[in-house]
Amino acid sequence: MAGEGQVFWFKFWGTRGSLPAPRPSTNKYGGNTPCMEVRAGGKIFIFDAGSGIRSLGVHLAREFAGKKLRATLLFSHYHWDHIHGFPFFSPAFDKGNHFVVYGEPRGSRNAKDILSGQMAMPYFPVPLQVMQAQFEFRDVGPRTTLQIGSVKIRTEALNHPGHCLSYRIEYRGKSIVYATDTEHGFRIDERLVRHAAGADVLIYDAAYTDAEIRAGKKGFGHSTWREGIKVAKAAGVRKLLLFHHEPSRNDKALDAIEATARRSFRACSAARENKKYTP
Ligand SMILES: [Zn+2]
Ligand SMILES: [Zn+2]
Repeated sequence: MAGEGQVFWFKFWGTRGSLPAPRPSTNKYGGNTPCMEVRAGGKIFIFDAGSGIRSLGVHLAREFAGKKLRATLLFSHYHWDHIHGFPFFSPAFDKGNHFVVYGEPRGSRNAKDILSGQMAMPYFPVPLQVMQAQFEFRDVGPRTTLQIGSVKIRTEALNHPGHCLSYRIEYRGKSIVYATDTEHGFRIDERLVRHAAGADVLIYDAAYTDAEIRAGKKGFGHSTWREGIKVAKAAGVRKLLLFHHEPSRNDKALDAIEATARRSFRACSAARENKKYTP
């Protein structure tokens, strides 16, 4: 059995895009907005702080009860659905914990300024300073390589209003590419194809269907499962996970999309909240 230091897995705590969409008909794929936990090389990585991060916090608090929790948080961007769970991430209020937070600056504002911005009146009554954990905020941009222990993380820019970063996580010869919130153009995104080249898993923004794009969602910053398959094939990706599910899409509709998509790319699934995956 692999030691704790050698495991590599990831789990979605939120797969839904734009707005939480919990209801009985979304139970299977989940209603929380983006949050992905990655364990690799004995380290904990958290991608985005959508509403799913609340449950992750509860889970981590239990796992690390009486122990110091250290984790690295990486933001793709700061649209609400990727940050609105952050004030409800309970381990951030515990003095003993330590978080390194990566995010792309926006003009003169870094991730700390932007997260503080949503934790201010009249939006929220508890300011960021009340979070007692130790925080280290670090700027990150496209085409950067971060080496965190034995884990390598590479970044690339996506095509999304106001910027978005994709992260490629590599450990022991396996790799996951987190590419949420991106819109395809008329030509394939060569930048993303290079970034995802040979990856074991590509997590891709499949918020819309072709019909929805035609019906007016062009320019909204999101893509489709069909475009995800094009990127996965061009990049030689082993497995494709459709992500950032549109709030109105219920489980039945996602089941149908998954079944149709599999006819063109067998190793394709709609990402499920609470499911643990290995690359
Ligand atoms: Zn989003
Ligand atoms: Zn966005």
